[in-house]
Amino acid sequence: MTKSNGFVTFIYGPMYAGKTDELIHQFNKRSALFAPEEIKVFKPMLDTRSKDIFSRSGKTLPAINVETSKEILNLIDEKTRVILIDEYQFMDKDLSMVIKELKQKQIDVFVVGLDKYFDSSPIESFKEIYELSTYKIVMTSICEKCGRTAQYSQKLIDGNTAPTNSDKIQVDKQDGHVEYLPVCERCYK
Ligand SMILES: [Zn+2]
Repeated sequence: MTKSNGFVTFIYGPMYAGKTDELIHQFNKRSALFAPEEIKVFKPMLDTRSKDIFSRSGKTLPAINVETSKEILNLIDEKTRVILIDEYQFMDKDLSMVIKELKQKQIDVFVVGLDKYFDSSPIESFKEIYELSTYKIVMTSICEKCGRTAQYSQKLIDGNTAPTNSDKIQVDKQDGHVEYLPVCERCYK
């Protein structure tokens, strides 16, 4: 029997949209069906908030931290059936090549992260992963200013809107000065 390629599910949206809760939900559903060695969770080392995955609602999931996306290929084996990758926007440019290879190995892949930076420019690898993905789960948040559906993440430094040349991959709350607000299209500026 020939097996088909794996499926890629792309879960994306702004900050505070519940993306990590969705990742944990997808993990839990599969944990009920697969043995622990068949499911692997990865996140980039660059995200220094913690080694594990924490959702803002307080759920946690242990993750393997990788410095490069190619490391993922060395950390899987013939038992691997499902892979979940959190904070893909912090991974390097090889990620889409890695996902293609995982697909060919009949592994189902979940890719989770932002669709755009705070200045609304697209994440470099977004388009490639979007095109590779079989399913898309688009997450939205609630605008902090007016309560409408929010698709943008506004970056604040000491409470003020960050300049557009500000660091794109600065993690929130890391130094106490930077925070992100989910905002709607109207309130985004
Ligand atoms: Zn708004």
